[in-house]
Amino acid sequence: MSSPNAESTAFRSALEVIRAVEPRVADAIGAELVDQRESLKLIASENYASPATLLAMGNWFSDKYAEGTVGRRFYAGCQNVDTVEALAAEHAKELFGAAHAYVQPHSGIDANLVAFWAILADRVESPALKRAQARHVNDLTEQDWFALRRELGNQRMLGMSLDAGGHLTHGFRPNISGKMFDQRSYGTDPATGLVDYDKVAEAAREFKPLILVAGYSAYPRKVNFRIMREIADSVGATFMVDMAHFAGLVAGKVFTGDFDPVPHAHIVTTTTHKSLRGPRGGMVLCGPELADQVDRGCPMVLGGPLPHVMAAKAVALAEARRPDFADYASRIVDNAQALAEGLLRRGAKLVTGGTDNHLVLIDVSGYGLTGRQAEAALLDSGIVTNRNAVPQDPNGAWYTSGIRIGTPALTTRGLGTAEMDATAELIHTVLTQTTPGSNADGTPSKAKYNLDPALADKVGHQATELLAAFPLYPSVSLA
Ligand SMILES: *Cc1c(COP(=O)(O)O)cnc(C)c1O
Repeated sequence: MSSPNAESTAFRSALEVIRAVEPRVADAIGAELVDQRESLKLIASENYASPATLLAMGNWFSDKYAEGTVGRRFYAGCQNVDTVEALAAEHAKELFGAAHAYVQPHSGIDANLVAFWAILADRVESPALKRAQARHVNDLTEQDWFALRRELGNQRMLGMSLDAGGHLTHGFRPNISGKMFDQRSYGTDPATGLVDYDKVAEAAREFKPLILVAGYSAYPRKVNFRIMREIADSVGATFMVDMAHFAGLVAGKVFTGDFDPVPHAHIVTTTTHKSLRGPRGGMVLCGPELADQVDRGCPMVLGGPLPHVMAAKAVALAEARRPDFADYASRIVDNAQALAEGLLRRGAKLVTGGTDNHLVLIDVSGYGLTGRQAEAALLDSGIVTNRNAVPQDPNGAWYTSGIRIGTPALTTRGLGTAEMDATAELIHTVLTQTTPGSNADGTPSKAKYNLDPALADKVGHQATELLAAFPLYPSVSLA
């Protein structure tokens, strides 16, 4: 460990240098630290990266172009970028037990695009694609391009439905994946809220997808990837797992055996900044069969790699290989379960009745509220969450009926199960004291709400008190 003094000095000096050019940026960075320190962050997709990870991003690696892959660059002078990219990939392979790791994607969405392209190129029998890859682009005729689009087009993808917790990039229209692929989705069992593998198998048999996608951003349970792989194999589909949300639980060996996607999937994508606690970025893991196509990610679908972020990925992945990361990962789940139990005991309605990962989905229709009203009332009270659809949501994807909460960030701060119970009390208090508002013409509103500002203030103070014993970035003082 570096000395706490070094961390304070590093950030203070950085701000001093920035302040000399544009003081408003330095002020905003300082204000962000204050805000993050003071708010009870329950956003399931956020975390707090280590000072070493953050500092690895603020340097001259940002100045380098490094298209290509380690040792095969389109630019000269990439030897140091090679070092950090190779290190990040090596740590990722060791950590996840993967044959190949591609650490260039700038985000989770980009990682998925790389994977989709790799699967298309690998799987679709396309003479036009073979021609296109064998020749220089300038040598292809218009007919070649028409043939390529025709041969690659209209492929099928089967993924989890949005309201069951799936992600936009798994074939939904607002994302390019929904325009590239003919998509069908599988939901969850209405009675239990769990994935119904028989239904997934049935959908796969009928639809015969090229790609079966598993992974989610709002499903509070484990997924059995062994069964999903069997389903994929039974219809000849490529099995892709997007572990963006739960990569930290895989890294920390909380999800093992049937619940570890890496040994079961043909290809795994992830973000690096959610439960994995690294810099904002993405990554693809795969076996040797898809490695060559995955490595074409840049410039096929990605802009130039971000060497400073790859350096930070190497740092964060090194951290995730330490024994204390496994302890962190198991505490994330203990905390989510304590939060779920605390809410249930007080009468909240939870999708699936609990959790076995890092997130909890509260069905706030039990409080007579929409997700939008609940989210805003909680925010007024210093509790940062986000609204989220619940299965078969009557309020749709904008207003929703759910609040998604997650524990990776608070667990990083050091809060434990006792604090989770106290957090459940704060959430329950706000939601029971909030009532739906109405529009000017007297009709019920899905957005407006009534909450006594004195109560919001009181809860806000209680939240701050709860956090006071667990300072965020305790080694960093900007004063
Ligand atoms: C967050 C998330 C993404 C997108 O990640 P970005 O880094 O925001 O692009 C993709 N897939 C899943 C399942 C996610 O939860």
